[in-house]
Amino acid sequence: MKRGLKRSLLAALLRLADRPRAGDIAALTYHSIDESGSPISFPISHFRSQIEWLAAAGYRSLTASEAAAVLSGRREATAPGVVLTFDDGFRSVREAAFPVLSKYGFVATVFCAAGYVGKQSGWARAPGVPALDMMSWDELAFLAGQGWEIGAHTISHACLPSLPSARMQEEIIEGRRILQKRMVCEVESFAYPFGRFDELCADSVAAAGFTSAWTMEPRPNRPGCDLFALGRFNCDRIQSEDAPMAVLAARTYLGRCYPHYAFLTARSLRVRAPAREDR
Ligand SMILES: [Zn+2]
Repeated sequence: MKRGLKRSLLAALLRLADRPRAGDIAALTYHSIDESGSPISFPISHFRSQIEWLAAAGYRSLTASEAAAVLSGRREATAPGVVLTFDDGFRSVREAAFPVLSKYGFVATVFCAAGYVGKQSGWARAPGVPALDMMSWDELAFLAGQGWEIGAHTISHACLPSLPSARMQEEIIEGRRILQKRMVCEVESFAYPFGRFDELCADSVAAAGFTSAWTMEPRPNRPGCDLFALGRFNCDRIQSEDAPMAVLAARTYLGRCYPHYAFLTARSLRVRAPAREDR
């Protein structure tokens, strides 16, 4: 069989297997909402378009812990649901994303690196990723007061699988303890820094008392799935030409199987590096 034909047959089979089902929940990940064009920045105009689109399509936002409760059958689904998440806790989330989301009645989940609250991002970053201001405890408390969820993202934004076991446990357990103490609330949800995890990390997160953990694996979540390896579509990467696999995954899952999410490919793929006069 010719290679091209084989590939399209395989793609068709994969699409059949991955047809959306009732109760599937997709989660979107953002980092900073700003116009810098950095690899972790998502332009405000495109963010607004996506949220407008979701609202017009009748989507309801779920926090990370609400989604975990639906996926595990502890809570009834409010279809169609989408989980909006912001990793790290950048100040632009409060300043730029919150006004857009509140206009449409959406809430989101912020996964905070506890050791960087009120500072600038200072962990080892990929080339081209700038140091950005992080939210303060007051800003996080404000968002929590608006119905947002504050989740954990370790203390130092460490890449967990590369750490010795004791250090990994400390990042998970202490990160949660610091957030709970400062926020005076239960911290239920966790996101793996850089999306990196292994079985030991997942077991440690579950043992620490979290009810869910979120990866960067670009797939929707299905009722009964593993709550400590939940998928998320990273919007920053989907719009980046540097990440062809993420683009491919977005096309496969969202553009074809998930026509509701076609905006991610239709809009986002052409937004990288807007012309300077547009910024
Ligand atoms: Zn992060």
